[in-house]
Formats: sequence, C-alpha cells, structure tokens
Amino acid sequence: MALVVQKYGGTSVGSVERIKAVARRVSKTVESGNSLVVVVSAMGKTTDTLVGLAKEISSNPCRREMDMLLSTGEQVTIALLSMALKELGQPAISLTGAQVGIVTEAEHSRARILQIQTERIQKHLNKGEVVVVAGFQGISNKKDLEITTLGRGGSDTSAVALAASLKASRCEIYTDVPGILTTDPRLVPEAQLMDEITADEMLELASLGAKVLHPRAVEIARNYGVSLVVLSSWSDAPGTRVVSPMPKPRPMEGLEITKAVDGVQLDTDQAKVALLRVPDRPGIAARLFGEISRQKVDVDLIIQSIHEGNTNDIAFTVVEGVLQRAEAVAEAIAPALRTQPSASDEAEVIVARRIAKVAISGAGMIGRPGIAAKMFKTLSDAGINIEMISTSEVKVSCVIAREDCDRALEALCRAFEVDSSSLPSVLNSIAKTEKTPPVRGVVLDRNQARLAIRHVPDLPGMAAQIFGLLAKKNISVDMIVQSQRCRIFDKMPTRDIAFTIAQVDADLAHSALTELAKNIGCGEVSVERAIAKVSIVGAGMIGQPGVAAKFFTALAKEQINIQMITTSEIKISCVVAEEEGVKALKAVHDAFDLAGKEKIEMPA
Ligand code: ADP
Ligand code: ASP
Ligand code: MG
Repeated sequence: MALVVQKYGGTSVGSVERIKAVARRVSKTVESGNSLVVVVSAMGKTTDTLVGLAKEISSNPCRREMDMLLSTGEQVTIALLSMALKELGQPAISLTGAQVGIVTEAEHSRARILQIQTERIQKHLNKGEVVVVAGFQGISNKKDLEITTLGRGGSDTSAVALAASLKASRCEIYTDVPGILTTDPRLVPEAQLMDEITADEMLELASLGAKVLHPRAVEIARNYGVSLVVLSSWSDAPGTRVVSPMPKPRPMEGLEITKAVDGVQLDTDQAKVALLRVPDRPGIAARLFGEISRQKVDVDLIIQSIHEGNTNDIAFTVVEGVLQRAEAVAEAIAPALRTQPSASDEAEVIVARRIAKVAISGAGMIGRPGIAAKMFKTLSDAGINIEMISTSEVKVSCVIAREDCDRALEALCRAFEVDSSSLPSVLNSIAKTEKTPPVRGVVLDRNQARLAIRHVPDLPGMAAQIFGLLAKKNISVDMIVQSQRCRIFDKMPTRDIAFTIAQVDADLAHSALTELAKNIGCGEVSVERAIAKVSIVGAGMIGQPGVAAKFFTALAKEQINIQMITTSEIKISCVVAEEEGVKALKAVHDAFDLAGKEKIEMPA
C-alpha cells in the first residue's frame, strides 16, 4: 500500500461544498489502495480576514498572539474535513501541528521545521484512518510549548515536510490552477501549463514570488528527493511534476535548518566589460546585448545599476577567451550612445582582465537576511575588495581581483563551513536536459522597493556594514547592484550601491541606513517604491547566447525603461517602473513564446 500526502489550499477548501468534494477525492484515493495523510489550509480568505481583525486592534500586533490567532484557521478546516470523510464512511482523524509533533524553532510567524514526529500519524494510519493535519503550524522546541506558524503560504511546506518524514511515495499539492504555469494566469490568462519543471527552476520562481508553491516546500522536496506534483482540485488532469535530483542522504533532524550555504563556487576564467554613462532610456541594453548575441558571445553575469542624473552603467562578464570580441562590440556601440560626438564625460568602455567570480549558493539563504552580509564581511576581513555584486534569491556572486581568489575561497569555505574539496561546479549542480527550454517561466513582483546609497567609499567592508545592519534589523535584501563608475568625492573614490527589499521594510531600512550613511561617510539614501521586478527563469539559458538580448528587446519594443539588471546562471531580473510591470510581464512572456492559444480557466 502506497502512502500519499495530499495538500489542499484555501480556495480548494473554501466552502462546505468544496470540503465535501475534497472528501470525495480523498476517499477515492484510499479506495484505489493508498493510505493517506491530508494537509489543509484555512478556508478561503480566512487567514487574511484574521490578519485584518488583528490590524483593527493593533498596528503592530505581537507575533506570538498572531500565531495563536492565525493557527485557528487551519483548525476549522481539519475538523470539517474529518467530519466530511466520516460521513462518507471513511474513518478519519484530525490533528493540529502540535498533536502530530511538528516541532519547529521558537520563531513566531516564520518558524522553520526542525523535526516531525511520525509515531502518532503512523498509529492512526495503521488503523486504516485518514489523518487530516493542520498545515502552516507547529509547536516550538522550547520548554514552553508554543504554537508557531511557518509564514504565509506555509501549508505547502507542512505537506512536503510530512512527505519527507513519513517517506511517502508522493506529495500532491492541490490548488486552484491546473498546475505550475509559465506565469501567473491572473495577470496573463494565456499562461501555459508545464508537464514538469526542475526543482532548481521552481525554487527560483517560487522565491521570486510565484505563489503557487512556498519556496521552502521546494527546498525540502529537493533536499530529500520527495516526489512532488502540483495539480488542480477541480479536475483529474495530471498537473506538473517538480523533478528533484537524487538526494544525498540527510538526517531527518534539523529538517529545515540545513546549512544556509551549501556551496562555494569559484570561476577564474572571467573578464569584465563595463559601459559607463550610457543614456537612461529604453532600448540601450537591448541594443548592446543584441549585438553581443549576434557575435555568439555568451555573457555570464549582467548588472545594470542606477545613478543620479540620466545615465546608467551596464557591466557584464564573459569567459576571457571571448573578451576581445565582447569589447569590440561595446566599443563599436559606445559612440552611438553619446549625445555629443566629442563629449568625454559620456559613454565609455572599460575592461578588466584578471578577475574572478566567487559565489555562495544555497536555498537555506531564503529569508535569512544575514547571509549576503556575512559573505561581504568575510571578504572584507580578508582585505578583498568587491568589484561587482550580483544576486539571486539563492545565490550571491561577487567579482574580485583574480589574485585574491584563493584567499577568498578559503575564507568563504571556512566562514560557511563548506568543504572546499567537494565544491560542486555551478553548471553541474543544476539539472538540465536537452529538452530544457531557455526560459521556463516568468514572474512579476510588485511588492518591492528600491533603496540607493550614494557615494559609498570604495573600500573593503562597506557592503558588509550596510547589509550587516539590515540583517540585524531582520530585513531580507533581494537584488544588490553596485555601480561600476567610481566617483571621487572628498578625495575618496566612491560607488553607489542600490538594492531592492520588501516594500513593508522600506521605511525601517531608510531610517537605519540614513543614520549609518552619516557615520561611515556615505552620501544620501533614497527610496523608490513605485517599482516592479520582472524575472525570467530557465536552466536552459546556461550556455545559450541571446536570452538576455531577447528579454531586453521585448522591453525595448514596449518602450519600457530598465532601471536595474541582475542575473544568476538560471535567471535574469529587471527592475522597471511599477505602472509598466504587467505590460512588461506580458511582453516578455510573449517574446519567449510561452503564451498558448487557450486561456486558463480559474475557479470563481
Ligand atoms: P493555495 O491556496 O492552493 O495554496 P495559492 O493562492 O497560494 O493557492 O497559489 C495558487 C495561485 O498562485 C494561483 O491562483 C495563481 O494566481 C498564483 N500563481 C502565481 N504564479 C503562478 C504560476 N507560475 N503558476 C501557477 N500559479 C501561479
Ligand atoms: N493559511 C495560510 C496562509 O493563508 C497558510 C497557507 O494557506 O498555506 O498563508
Ligand atoms: Mg499557497
């Protein structure tokens, strides 16, 4: 008999009728010879309603009481579903997270799962009962048994963690869309269903804001090799499989407290081309990378930073062997970007040969704000200056001088306790087949704000101080971009640093950094809230020239200006004006031929 874990989200259990429909599906699954653990969310918008009630009483309610409140939502659903199953003659029992023994760290509102006790569930399964478990909640490991929650959307994580702990044969996530789509169908109804996606790609999509799966659920599935599928609770269609590589053996204790960083990578065959002071208008990146891809040059990191005035810097890295071709393209384009033919303070190309890229990666860095800061601090303690920073949700890459690379590698491996002898190569660690398309999915995030700090002295340790302070305030930083241009300010070479964070953290970050900027000799700190981030994700973009060019061209055709660019091996993100977000998303989705003819039907 196979053990299956099924999870039903809010809309899928949004009414009595829906709960009865879920009960019918559950008992059918049992009848076909499976034993079943069912994880449920709160009904419909219950969690939002509870949050609203709390906000009416307090603008800043204490996190412990919020957990007490929000965990009630799921408790309603487990009882009702269990009753519905019994009505169908199917023995069942409902259990809260605490009753199961879903043991978490004592961090209210964002607890990570440490371990799941399986004895009680097993006992009920052996009696032929369906076990209905409240998602999103657990019990703390401290002396006082506190109710905790895992963070919004966390029921997916409960389900996959249960599947891993019980060694279930599969975990099925039932939701209100047919599976994982090329983008959010609420924004682009022509989004298409995928049959499968790799866990690496899904992890990027989920962390970039594709709400269909909680990123931590994907992380657990990948780490423990859980067979995971996302499908509609309205139909019998097969949905989307999330494919994980063969997992390394891992203990079941510290389930979610895996190391924040599980790899340090070094790439010494890198050279950098930077175009300084290019005009800040639509089409510039498209033109540059369009020409570069016509020359069949594959670019690795790309960053574009923001500046005062109306010019930008764009920099990219390539393998050293193609540097000459890349430089020639940039040199050929630069004059055309000058507004006056002889202006010396306009578009200029600089090249750096002896550079290296060091990166740290690991899904455990999601929601742990201190990791990037720790990398910067480690490099600065080793006296190493960072020339370029590029980030994704699960990776931070820094470009440094090549002569520093051995020291950097050693220091980072020591700081993050990673064994340097077993370093995975970046490219081998990402699952990819012949069929993998260059772009699998597109995501829009409209909940971010951009902060910029002007004139940051170009000395080791500055980034460490800035991001260390944000980490101390528990603020997670997303895209980080350091400008290429060095400006002399009070005899000191300086650069600007810009980054994005969640909009809710913008005020706190702004006031903290304004204070710090004064103390460490930086310039003004500015905030821009009206931004949107559009990202493309696909393992097939590795080693495939032209993907970035196509992305930027799609935006240029719509006259959309790009404010910031960052990349990792399998994603490219652009910041654009908020009001252009949806237009940008549609344009990019179309450009990569992801749109289908039939629109996705959403349940009312
Ligand atoms: P549940 O309550 O079942 O957990 P969620 O609302 O958390 O459901 O997640 C499902 C929603 O995710 C969909 O209704 C859809 O609007 C959104 N979504 C965003 N990006 C995607 C995507 N790439 N594929 C499918 N759904 C997506
Ligand atoms: N009910 C919780 C929420 O709305 C958890 C979940 O549905 O995954 O965030
Ligand atoms: Mg969800």
